[in-house]
Amino acid sequence: MSIKALKGFKDIVPGEVETWQFIEKTARDIFHRFDLAEIKVPILEKTELFTRSIGETTDIVEKEMYTFIDRNGSSLTMRPEGTAPVLRAYIENGLHAARAVQKLYTIGPMFRHERPQKGRLRQFHQMSVEVLGSDHPRVDAELMAMAWLIMTELGLTASLEINSLGCPQCRPAFNAALLAFLHHAENLCDDCQRRRETNPLRVLDCKSTHCQEQYRQAPSFLDFLCPGCTDHFSEVIDGLALLAIPYKVNSFMVRGLDYYTRTTFELVTGDLGAQSAVGAGGRYDGLVKQLGGPDVPGIGFAMGMERLALLLAQQEKAAAAPALDLFVVALGTAAQQKGFALTHALRRAGLTASMDYQDRSLKNQMKQAGKAAARYALIMGDTELASGSAMLRNMAGSEQAPCAIAADADEWAKELAEKYLK
Ligand code: ATP
Ligand code: MG
Repeated sequence: MSIKALKGFKDIVPGEVETWQFIEKTARDIFHRFDLAEIKVPILEKTELFTRSIGETTDIVEKEMYTFIDRNGSSLTMRPEGTAPVLRAYIENGLHAARAVQKLYTIGPMFRHERPQKGRLRQFHQMSVEVLGSDHPRVDAELMAMAWLIMTELGLTASLEINSLGCPQCRPAFNAALLAFLHHAENLCDDCQRRRETNPLRVLDCKSTHCQEQYRQAPSFLDFLCPGCTDHFSEVIDGLALLAIPYKVNSFMVRGLDYYTRTTFELVTGDLGAQSAVGAGGRYDGLVKQLGGPDVPGIGFAMGMERLALLLAQQEKAAAAPALDLFVVALGTAAQQKGFALTHALRRAGLTASMDYQDRSLKNQMKQAGKAAARYALIMGDTELASGSAMLRNMAGSEQAPCAIAADADEWAKELAEKYLK
């Protein structure tokens, strides 16, 4: 019996991967325009990094992490998100000393043991951004504008929802009001009954519609913000207005991680069923210090690449495989030899080229040229070699013309490139 991939772990195969490359290329280009630097961090970290940052009583830490004991007895975790590892790297590498405001991005896989469904996997991929060293509300607006621009340049739409979760100063009053409200709430799901005791804010993130209906009556964080947080929030809104980014305030939005302070935001779409968030983020002032670093503020967001790819596929905006410049169709030992050298010479000349080494039939090789989406096929056998002229076929128009065979492969490749393939 063949071995299958794990449940919730998915291959991204040719035909799909082009869309992924398009997403990644678009995002990288935008990150560059915003003066962000890339950082690559490990997939495996000490478990403590996540329990200390995301929070012991969050869903991620309680039930979604891939945690295991290493051969030498230490508890390790496959990263469920990118912020904690990037912050650890920022602290460990002294990046705060290199630039007062560090703007970083990373792209890669994340791991959460969730119930797999459309747009929800156990290994999924995020493109994430962290800006460390500034608490200016313009930075919050700038990041939302960046996420917005990524959507726009991908040709996708979503709506931006924003909220503020306050700071350690205003949170106790809100928590008390929320607890009082939850005290009277009836028929909460089992999870929420537990969350009510362990981490009340988490209830607002519950996915059950029954719970959500009740929470519409819950107190709004925005009514509890301290003056500092109120000013910050209104300046974020001013910033969004200056950049003409449309938004909606959603005072019930909390994020699934404990470290957020002040601004939080989500990009939501109605096109992915229950998996409505394509991207999300927020401010986490205090987290760098909590992880043993300097007392610098920070903010970040992550976009889910599976969900972006799904949206592009649904809207028939999936990227096509790139075409091949030339497929060398060589028939017979001598032509195969000549073709082998020519194919490499074409590649050295910067063209995309391919050939078949099995010396299959003309029909078969032409079929392969078609499957490779080749623009041209160069056909040669013993007769062509003897006459010194091969046949160049334009695959789209199906017309063909003779082309002189040069003795030197590099010269021939150059000639082909200049005459036909540019
Ligand atoms: P959700 O509410 O859908 O569970 P989340 O709040 O857990 O999302 P974040 O931790 O904020 O998600 O991650 C940011 C983005 O990463 C999400 O907006 C989503 O696009 C993507 N994402 C999160 N979890 C998954 C998953 N299991 N599979 C695919 N994409 C995911
Ligand atoms: Mg989640």
